[in-house]
This record gives sequence, structure tokens and C-alpha cells, in this order.
Amino acid sequence: MAVTTTLAARTGAAFQVSQGGTLRVINTYGSQVVDTWAVARQEPQHGLSMAHTRAVLGRLMVKAGDELVDDLRRPILQIAEDTSPGVHDTLIPACDPVRYQRLGHKGHHDNCSDNYHRALAESGLPDLLTPVPAPLNLFMNVPVNSDGDIVFRAPVSRPGDSVLLRALTDVVVVLSACPQDLVPVNGDLQQPRDVEVRITDAPGKQAQEQS
Ligand SMILES: [Zn+2]
Repeated sequence: MAVTTTLAARTGAAFQVSQGGTLRVINTYGSQVVDTWAVARQEPQHGLSMAHTRAVLGRLMVKAGDELVDDLRRPILQIAEDTSPGVHDTLIPACDPVRYQRLGHKGHHDNCSDNYHRALAESGLPDLLTPVPAPLNLFMNVPVNSDGDIVFRAPVSRPGDSVLLRALTDVVVVLSACPQDLVPVNGDLQQPRDVEVRITDAPGKQAQEQS
């Protein structure tokens, strides 16, 4: 069975995905970056690690077919499909209050780090991974130049592009529709947008649960 929900602009949410189940992140407007984490349900002291994933893949980018790993290099999440041009970021930390202060913002600003903590708390899993792990930043366009410089650019994804993630163990996937509106991370209009999330159970899982 598939369940589709809207993840509102600027907010985060946690999704239970059992081994073999999938979660599709649909970039409804094409311009929205989605910070993505996975925490192991049975061992919440472990989760998706971008540093270990880059080392295992031998690449800065992720692409369809890749198995992403946790901090013990165990497969935790697969990029099962990617209908976008394939530009995602694995380097940049989640935005946080200091990021917005340094951009000159006064007072509270929604941010992906707070969204992570809030969503994980609502999932019931203990929040053991500190500091906030580096997320897989779906659709985020931060090219690395040949001299090593990085640049924050608008996404190149198109309306309706999506990435399908498959759980390789039982996980809580935390998503944050990044509220960045001071630099063009979420498009040249700097307008955070809603995205859609579709969860599908592992094949046969419902039948097992009903029997
Ligand atoms: Zn963010």
C-alpha cells in the first residue's frame, strides 16, 4: 500500500520505513532541497553517514543504484531511482540558527537542524546522533570546482522530479524541506516550497501483518 503526504515548506517530518519498503521524495515545484537522514530503528545510535558513504562509493555524488551506508559502513538506504538530472549534495551540513545569524538574519529562522530534532522526537526514537549528522541533501546543487571551491547554486531539478529511496534495514527517514530563503539554495526566487512524500510497504509485508 502506498501513502502520499505533503511535507510543507520549511518543515520536517519522520517516516517509518521497514526493510524493503520505499520512500519517494517528489520535488513538486522542482526547486526545493530536501535534507534527508536515516536512523536505524533497532540501533538508533547508528544512521546514514555521508562521510562513510563517500568513501565506500569513491564519489562525492550519489546516483541511482548506489547503496548508502551507516557509520559502520553497513548498507542502510539505496537510491533505487532518480528521475532528476542527478545533482544532489553530500558535503554541506544541515542549516542551523548560526547559519542564518551569519547571513544577517535577526531572531528566529526555521532551520533543518531544529526540524531534524523535532521530527525525530515525534518518531519516538531517541535522539542519539550529535551533532546533527550531515544529511543527504536531495536536489541541492553545490558544484565543486577543479580548484576545490564550492558554490551554492539553484537546483537543476524540474517540477515533478523524484528520488526513490529503498530501506535496506528498518529505518526512520527524517526529511526537512529546507527553509533557506536568504541564498538561492531553493531556487533563484529563494522561495521554500512544499514537496510530496510517498511511502510504499515492502512487497508482501501487508500480507504478513494481516495473517
Ligand atoms: Zn536547511
